[in-house]
Amino acid sequence: MVRTLTTFRTRPLVGGRTLQTEAIPGDIQVKNNAGGFVYKLDEMKALDRFLILGTEGGSYYASEKTLTADRAKTIKALVESRGVEVVNRVVEISESGRAPKADPALFTLALAISFGSPATKRAATQALPRVARTGTHLFLFTQYASQLRGWGRVLRNAVADWYTSKDAAKLAYQVTKYQQREGWSHRDLLRLSHAKATGEVNDVLRYVVKGELPLVDMIDPLGQLAYRGYLGAVEQAKKASSAKEIIRLITDYDLPRECIPTQFLKDASVWDALLQKMPMTAMIRNLATMSRVGLLVPMSDASRMISERLQNAEILRKARVHPIQLLSAHRVYKAGGTGYALTRSQGGSFNPVNIVTSALEDAFYKSFEYVEASGKRTFLALDVSGSMTFGSVAGVPGLTPMEAEAAMAMVTVRNEYAGDKIKIPLYYTAGFSRSLQQLTLLPTDSLEAVQRKMQSLSYGSTNCSAPMEFALREKMLIDTFVIYTDNETWSGTIHPSQALDLYRKKVNPDAKLVVVGLTATDFTIARPGDAGMMDVVGFDTAAPRLITEFSQGKI
Ligand code: CA
Repeated sequence: MVRTLTTFRTRPLVGGRTLQTEAIPGDIQVKNNAGGFVYKLDEMKALDRFLILGTEGGSYYASEKTLTADRAKTIKALVESRGVEVVNRVVEISESGRAPKADPALFTLALAISFGSPATKRAATQALPRVARTGTHLFLFTQYASQLRGWGRVLRNAVADWYTSKDAAKLAYQVTKYQQREGWSHRDLLRLSHAKATGEVNDVLRYVVKGELPLVDMIDPLGQLAYRGYLGAVEQAKKASSAKEIIRLITDYDLPRECIPTQFLKDASVWDALLQKMPMTAMIRNLATMSRVGLLVPMSDASRMISERLQNAEILRKARVHPIQLLSAHRVYKAGGTGYALTRSQGGSFNPVNIVTSALEDAFYKSFEYVEASGKRTFLALDVSGSMTFGSVAGVPGLTPMEAEAAMAMVTVRNEYAGDKIKIPLYYTAGFSRSLQQLTLLPTDSLEAVQRKMQSLSYGSTNCSAPMEFALREKMLIDTFVIYTDNETWSGTIHPSQALDLYRKKVNPDAKLVVVGLTATDFTIARPGDAGMMDVVGFDTAAPRLITEFSQGKI
């Protein structure tokens, strides 16, 4: 009896060694997909991973469908037990622009409005206009909700509120720019939700349902009632017979691309007019098209304007442009309509403009939250085992966890370097699979150069203890280990948390570990309850800041 009792521990057994294919005695661990034992990630942190990384594209171990069903089950349970907290977290992540896509947030809100307590449902209803910021978002949410529940009162009210809580001008823009998706149209939603309004908002709703245009106010054509002129212009554009007429409507009424008949979208001058006030995300999405029509060519005013906007951190932040969108745009654009771009079926190759390609790369770095150098000795260790070369991160075609982690690590490399006065950085970079592999990331490396370095490594089995074991063997002085991984470790003879314990005992008692998770599983190598270990989500725009502040002991 007594001997059994000695196996229960609430603090680590320093110097202990356990094969990764076995659970550490006394620790509560779970088996990961690779057959190794790791810790289960805190539920709210697992929610963060889902909100930021999503499940689209799947992983090496789980198909997109399996991974999604898995996450949906755990989040449904979380919504039932801590629903209001979940809704608040969704709003926080969504409004701060930390997630690349709205889909996981909208799906979580749909779970909350379907399975939450009355208080949770109320919170989800109030959150909907803040999270579903475009008509497309509303259609997605409706699609998810209708998969999970019927059109009861709660859903009807939530959808109706989305329309009636906006002012007429914003609403007019939303219903004309995003007309339908997922088989839903605004007319469908207005009928199903029985949305009712008065005054100006009612004008817009009547336009959607009955196609009736409000009378244009001749006294105040651009003032408070400007939405009337705008809706008139949307209808005029449908009947326009010349590019000149279309350009005038775009210039006078700020018509978006979605309101322009397709026959005019082959015309560079039409795109030039659109570009003048084009929202940032639309601009990034249409780079290839603007190149194909001949607007975005070397030395053109358009390519200068686009490059300037891309390098403006203020504009990037206001538009909530996510680094993943920029990384994705960068790889598609520089391929000039070949490779990944072909899967988007936009057709035809083009010559990428160099200043735009490099502006996109610059924008990638600027779109993370600003962070200073940590001043700490940091070991950036990238998991380059086979599983990291499969699946796609945040649903970006072809963006593997390996390519994603390299781009993430570069953010920290550049921050640390820029912050060091004498330019002798305090970081060390390496790759690892079964054991450590040489991988030198320099602040001056282009993303392309980084990818070439990654491709020259040899992939193999996974041992997330390798960085700590190496540092111990070499007596390297490290304050913080940052490990980029999918947490599917299994091939080591010591667990990562044990390897850190040993390193702390023999070299630096204050050494910390940050785990940068790159897939939406709920596994982690970080021991829960150890204040010196932390999980962050790969491609959270706040991740570089969180790593630095944790390293400095501020969080
Ligand atoms: Ca692996």
